[in-house]
Amino acid sequence: MADVVFSNVQKSFGTFTAVRDLDLTIKSGEFVSLLGPSGCGKTTTLRMLAGLEFPSGGEIRIDGKVVNDTPPGKRDIAMVFQSYALYPHMTVGKNIAYPLKKRRVPTAERDQMVAKVADMLQLTPLLARKPGQLSGGQQQRVALGRALVRDPKVFLLDEPLSNLDAKLRGYMRAELVELHARLGRTMVYVTHDQLEAMTMSDRIAIMLNGDLQQFAPPQQVYRAPANRFVAGFIGTPSMNLVDGELSRVGDGWRLRTDTLDLPVGPLIDQAQPGPACMGIRPEGLTIGTGDNTAEVLLVEETGHENIVTLRLGTSTRLTARTPADQILRMGTRVPFSIDTSALHVFGPGETGPRL
Ligand code: ATP
Repeated sequence: MADVVFSNVQKSFGTFTAVRDLDLTIKSGEFVSLLGPSGCGKTTTLRMLAGLEFPSGGEIRIDGKVVNDTPPGKRDIAMVFQSYALYPHMTVGKNIAYPLKKRRVPTAERDQMVAKVADMLQLTPLLARKPGQLSGGQQQRVALGRALVRDPKVFLLDEPLSNLDAKLRGYMRAELVELHARLGRTMVYVTHDQLEAMTMSDRIAIMLNGDLQQFAPPQQVYRAPANRFVAGFIGTPSMNLVDGELSRVGDGWRLRTDTLDLPVGPLIDQAQPGPACMGIRPEGLTIGTGDNTAEVLLVEETGHENIVTLRLGTSTRLTARTPADQILRMGTRVPFSIDTSALHVFGPGETGPRL
């Protein structure tokens, strides 16, 4: 077991900075996801931890030891790639055994370790097959097996489920969570899929343009997003975000947009009157009662609930979740209310901070 510490880590490619001032402490045994849109720097961060890229500045420590100059093979980590990277000409058994063979582990011991891992991942009946004779999910399990057999201090996983169909992804998510609980190993998982990060992680590190935006447990990231970007990125359907103007009224605050005027707060001491952004999750809207009215633009039925898009004024759109049995016709006007206790307020700009 090992903790992983990034201290003021930078990574530049020429004049382009891919990762900036990264401070991140991953506790021993923790499952941490690096999450963010394409190009945010998450893979570069993982590759620096793996030793496949070298930091341009700062320090990376595994288990207290600075590894900046340690080659990948000496870091006691195992990495699982999106592409699986299996050897097509070798059987499943030989693929799993490969890291042990490279380390010259004696055959008898090797067979024993492979058998144990195969049993753990339900691969025993497939040991004699070649990767080409396996489904995507089975191939992914072989790739996991090859990482597990080395019993490393830290597991690094780079979008390992992205080549699987939705159902299998859901199944493998649960398998990985169970595996992590059983092994208790430090796992660092790169994904752009917020559902994966939310369901699997102890903590999520959300990145944008090379900068860490928030590092917190899933519930905290959902309930108290650190800034507007995180608020919009986490949650499906996304949080409604509407620009407006914040003003002081008496002891409290109000936020006015083109179409709404709502009490907000309490806000942080540093909050200032001026441009701000209102955030409300779709579950914070109730259709059918309330002082506001809007046009029903779209009703999407998911089975157990409906996702309804409302239009206010000319351009404001709000998404609401409604019960499946609430019949709403597109094009009609409906009353609605906003749960003001569930409002979030952010400063202006893409990463405007939570106020
Ligand atoms: P994705 O989900 O698309 O893989 P990511 O968040 O993992 O994205 P990175 O692969 O870490 O992003 O890349 C971060 C930025 O650094 C990107 O803009 C990318 O183009 C750039 N980058 C990565 N590797 C190199 C390289 N070897 N040379 C130049 N630029 C690079």
